[in-house]
Amino acid sequence: MAKTIFEKIVAGEIPARVVHETDAVLAFLDANPLAPGHTLVIPKDAHERLDGLPADLAADLFAVVHALTPKIERAVDADATTIGINNGAAAGQEVPHVHVHIVPRFEGDGGGPIHAISPASPSLSADELDEIADTISTA
Ligand code: AMP
Repeated sequence: MAKTIFEKIVAGEIPARVVHETDAVLAFLDANPLAPGHTLVIPKDAHERLDGLPADLAADLFAVVHALTPKIERAVDADATTIGINNGAAAGQEVPHVHVHIVPRFEGDGGGPIHAISPASPSLSADELDEIADTISTA
């Protein structure tokens, strides 16, 4: 299968503004930033979706997100960050290689919260919520 653009970055075949690197994880600036300091954190191994990551790699990935977020905020003097993953094409994932977006946020920047991704929240009964919770917790 053809390499994704992120595999090419990991392989050094195309350039990136790398801000952090470990044996398993790479972080670099997004080429089309939503804000100054918008950073992508990826596992070096190619996995399309979060559920494809081995648990230790998922832990390594989040450890870098955790360590890097305050550094990014300080670097661009941000007031906050929105951190998220488009996990699958239906969620807007364009590059099929797991990546965590760290997007610096500023008071009055006009952006919305994560809740803004849904145009209308579903109306779920207590029974439906119970059933969903049971299904998840027993999976
Ligand atoms: P997503 O929609 O979650 O798959 O986001 C993919 C992200 O990758 C977008 O924010 C793009 O701007 C970013 N991107 C695509 N190509 C590159 C590249 N060569 N270097 C850095 N970021 C990139």
